[in-house]
Amino acid sequence: MIPQHEVPSYLTPHEIGPWGDYLTQIERVTPYLGSLSRWVETLKRPKRILVVDVPIERDNGTIAHFEGYRVQHNTSRGPGKGGVRFHQNVTLSEVMALSAWMTIKNAAVNVPYGGAKGGIRVDPKTLSQGELQRMTRRYTSEIGIIIGPNKDIPAPDVNTNEQTMAWMMDTYSMNEGATATGVVTGKPISLGGSLGRREATGRGVYVVGSAAAHTIGLNIEGAKIAVQGFGNVGGISAKLFAEAGAKIVAVQDHAGTVFHSNGLNVPKLLAHVAEFGSVVGFSGSEEKMSRDNFWDVDCDIMIPAALEQQITETNAHRIRAKIILEGANGPTTPQADDILHAKGVLVVPDVLANAGGVTVSYFEWVQDFSSYFWSEDEINSRLTRIMTEAFNAVRQVSVDKEVSLRTAAFLIGCTRVLQAREMRGLYP
Ligand code: GLU
Repeated sequence: MIPQHEVPSYLTPHEIGPWGDYLTQIERVTPYLGSLSRWVETLKRPKRILVVDVPIERDNGTIAHFEGYRVQHNTSRGPGKGGVRFHQNVTLSEVMALSAWMTIKNAAVNVPYGGAKGGIRVDPKTLSQGELQRMTRRYTSEIGIIIGPNKDIPAPDVNTNEQTMAWMMDTYSMNEGATATGVVTGKPISLGGSLGRREATGRGVYVVGSAAAHTIGLNIEGAKIAVQGFGNVGGISAKLFAEAGAKIVAVQDHAGTVFHSNGLNVPKLLAHVAEFGSVVGFSGSEEKMSRDNFWDVDCDIMIPAALEQQITETNAHRIRAKIILEGANGPTTPQADDILHAKGVLVVPDVLANAGGVTVSYFEWVQDFSSYFWSEDEINSRLTRIMTEAFNAVRQVSVDKEVSLRTAAFLIGCTRVLQAREMRGLYP
């Protein structure tokens, strides 16, 4: 008898996944790249992919193995930069796409980094704190051969946080024999983290969303907003929009959906999620809503702030929002982009809308190197300036070239990366 073998996910042949969406986005910008299109193949293949086995001893004495990845998509403009994701559905295709979006994002807001991303295929909820720490440390040690303050700098992403970064920084530092705070960003403040970093992605979504609303004459005060994902990105942006007078009418997370036509009480919902782990059971919800009905909600702005490929050709035509504000990476497929464009919905792309996180990561890295730390006001005002200027530049290109905000952001980002590529020349 021939035994059944488990096929590693990175060998799955029929599933190009989010990487396919990214390639389509590159194809859409290529006609606008002029002579730089000669180099565009550079963007269609990651520079370096590392797949690692992450073994740990479970609390019950058994040994478990997890698939880990670190992909450095591009380093033409500087070291690799991008988060680390712990999720049961992580695949190589996904990490490749996420690393590529980091390349475009970092160039679009002009922070001096290439693009990278990492992940482990694991449901972290199934691990104890001790197991989580052992897995994080072993993963860090395995990818330690390609990361470093001047090589590639990880940060938090889905299901990773300040504690994860503290373990990563410590593990890397122990292997190096010296404390290297600049090897990761999104650290606790007590370990060289930056004020404002935790809120930065959500704050950037708010700043760019307010600017986008202004361009279509939508007042944030009284605007109805639906948010998918209520973690670091969705939760903070919902809070900031609510403080500005918007009504957060619907919130969906991994476990359920809550709705209130007059606006949910966001601080109370955040407290509920902190206590119970999801929005389910929140007493301030007006009615029960099925997962699928979220897409029909009457709203002005929809913020997908969870995972990729949420807005697709099957639900895009139902969306009633005037603006889609991509807090997540890759939430809208190219097919959905076309449907939304035909409906006149303004899509503010991930590489612009959620770039506030990596922008403050850059501030953190600079502060670590100079060992001089800035005030929160200084960080927030610099963040607001960078995000506003990036939005205005992308909008101008979109008007001049008559392209979507996504293609405009890609045009600015790809041009910067490929100019650097061309100036550096090919080695050898
Ligand atoms: N994971 C975040 C992102 O997708 C932040 C990355 C970083 O700060 O390096 O942009």
